Amino acid sequence: MSRPLQITVLGATGSIGLSTLDVVARHPRRYQVFAVTAFSRVAELYKVCLAHRPRYAVVADEVQARSLQAQLSLDGLTTQVLAGEGGLCEVAAHPEADVVMAAIVGAAGLRPTLSAVQAGKRVLLANKEALVMSGGLFMQALRDSDAVLLPIDSEHNAIFQCLPSDYARGMAEVGVRRILLTASGGPFRELPLVDLESVTPEQACAHPNWSMGRKISVDSASMMNKGLELIEACWLFDAKPEQVEVVVHPQSVIHSMVDYVDGSVLAQLGNPDMRTPIAHALAWPERIESGVSALDLLRVGRLDFQAPDEERFPCLRLARQAAEVGGTSPAMLNAANEVAVEAFLERRIRFTEIASIIGDVLNCEASVPARCLEDVLTADRRARVLADSWLDRHGR
Ligand code: NDP
Repeated sequence: MSRPLQITVLGATGSIGLSTLDVVARHPRRYQVFAVTAFSRVAELYKVCLAHRPRYAVVADEVQARSLQAQLSLDGLTTQVLAGEGGLCEVAAHPEADVVMAAIVGAAGLRPTLSAVQAGKRVLLANKEALVMSGGLFMQALRDSDAVLLPIDSEHNAIFQCLPSDYARGMAEVGVRRILLTASGGPFRELPLVDLESVTPEQACAHPNWSMGRKISVDSASMMNKGLELIEACWLFDAKPEQVEVVVHPQSVIHSMVDYVDGSVLAQLGNPDMRTPIAHALAWPERIESGVSALDLLRVGRLDFQAPDEERFPCLRLARQAAEVGGTSPAMLNAANEVAVEAFLERRIRFTEIASIIGDVLNCEASVPARCLEDVLTADRRARVLADSWLDRHGR
């Protein structure tokens, strides 16, 4: 190997960002951290800079940038600190960056992730919201560039591993009947329905199998995460919504499956630790050590499967409908969900009202074709206004 690959980690202070840095640090001859970014956790980013000595760090604004720059200079680091969305796009598309981990949460990751795609990088996609919002445009940008897109979501990474290498020819052409997207069912899978109204953000964030950021933890509890993943799978693998079946699998050991026309079902298994898909995508088509312990099937003992309960999890139904409608509907679904989840985390709404807000927004605003990025961003803004007005109307 000539020189270590240069890695930009967008969202370096988050759960996926830190797991990525952990894997990268295990292979210093293969990988070097080129740029890291944060939003609110600047003290955490400072520690990341001390540990990995990147060429660039990006924070939210100029004030934070000046203060971090001064601190790093005092420590003798030559790291250059940039600010804002411009800084994020710059380190995502920088000519010297080889690999970009897209791990910013939510719509904020859209432009930097697209910049990495347009610049032809190897893009490791954790930021599913970017693809959900702009699917058709995103995939077109991928086709128009030399970029390689590798899914980080454990389900999509599993599907990618179970598909043949020429899957881009089309599902039918490569003999795929269905994608079986597994879901843990989250912390409220068995909670009596009447108690769902009164669950707290702490309960929603206490996922039984995975340790994740707060927004995706709430999405997992409402199963909106599975809905977003369904839309993500449709774009990544050129599948129709009806070709993606959600299967609740509480142990989270099978990360997803592919069902072939000859009756074969291929599955990818592993311990629930995001360092496995991260290491897979970093090294693909090779394999590297990730720090994840070997799966002990005897200890797991059994694998259970159930159908998802859409009465309990209306967000899953709303997401499937948005996938079927297409156009700007997924972008509106995503934006309304982001506003609702934030309001739930701030204890302004009940857990069950997350779906009410999203349903209300989708009913109020018709989907239009997403012909350009501005169409997507307009739909995103409009959905946020409508979700905010729901909060106002209900005195939250
Ligand atoms: P976290 O909340 O742990 O981290 C999010 C990261 O994004 C942080 O670095 C945060 O910075 C940064 N960020 C937040 N808002 C902004 C903004 N407005 N502008 C720029 N940066 C911002 O999230 P996760 O790591 O859990 O998730 C990241 C993405 O990966 C999500 O899209 C999620 O759906 C996806 N994903 C996560 C999985 C997991 O196991 N965690 C599994 C599969 C997918 P700061 O911390 O400084 O505020």
